[in-house]
Amino acid sequence: MERRKFLLNALALLPITAGAMTLQALGKMTESFGSTELMPVLFLGHGSPMNAIEDNEFVQGWIQQGRTLPKPSAILCISAHWETNGTYVTAMPKPQTIHDFGGFPQALFDVQYPAPGSPELALETQKIITTTKVGLDDKWGLDHGCWSVVKHLYPNADVPVIQMSLDYNRSAKYHYELAKELAALRRKGVLIVGSGNLVHNLRLVAWDKMNTPDYAFDWALEAKAKMNEYILSGNYQPLIDYKSQGKAFDLAIPTPDHFLPLLYTLALKEDREHISLFNDKALMGSLSMTSLRIG
Ligand code: ZN
Repeated sequence: MERRKFLLNALALLPITAGAMTLQALGKMTESFGSTELMPVLFLGHGSPMNAIEDNEFVQGWIQQGRTLPKPSAILCISAHWETNGTYVTAMPKPQTIHDFGGFPQALFDVQYPAPGSPELALETQKIITTTKVGLDDKWGLDHGCWSVVKHLYPNADVPVIQMSLDYNRSAKYHYELAKELAALRRKGVLIVGSGNLVHNLRLVAWDKMNTPDYAFDWALEAKAKMNEYILSGNYQPLIDYKSQGKAFDLAIPTPDHFLPLLYTLALKEDREHISLFNDKALMGSLSMTSLRIG
């Protein structure tokens, strides 16, 4: 009875795109998120949008993950490129591929990633987050922070994908705590993916070192090494307090957008779980591609 009422309420909130869906159909879909083994969690350093159409060691790293992950029922992606006033999840059945960048070749603008959305996962996420109101969005879609990497994990676009936005009014601690509320989704077959870059200072990029592998400024190396140490030792407090870690962190994280998705990933680690790093390289002085997998 209560579930039926919830679905009715949720249906009323859903945008036009899902309006034609019957209550019965929605009920059926929510049942598809049954109990499963604990799904791994990822943080992916996405780097340049060109990674969507290039083949390089980072792309190979993502492809490798895709091959070794259990097939998820759906993906929930927290991308650096979707910041909002409040928290939203995409709730449309067919999210558009957003080309949210400029100055790249036409071939990149031609890429479509036609993965279905998952209105039912959007509703489920809205339901399990209780500390804040989660809005259902019908306008966004999949931005490049999401599709440029997820397309390498699931090239057939056959896994439904939703995004959850980053509320730009909130602190790092808030994001870390909010992420914990997503934990139940891991047992419903949902792959949670944070997508950003741990060291990400576009103003200081050494464009002349584009072809020098693993090139990093001293401060970038320092920040990267400390971040890895904190991640691997389970000492997350300095990462949550990233604004008080000194000059190297200040330069590595000039704005929170690309860093916060890491906190969503770390917050979901259970005590007995192992974290492994991959794509752990620097790039063009002021960027790092470090990615991690939990479980
Ligand atoms: Zn980015």
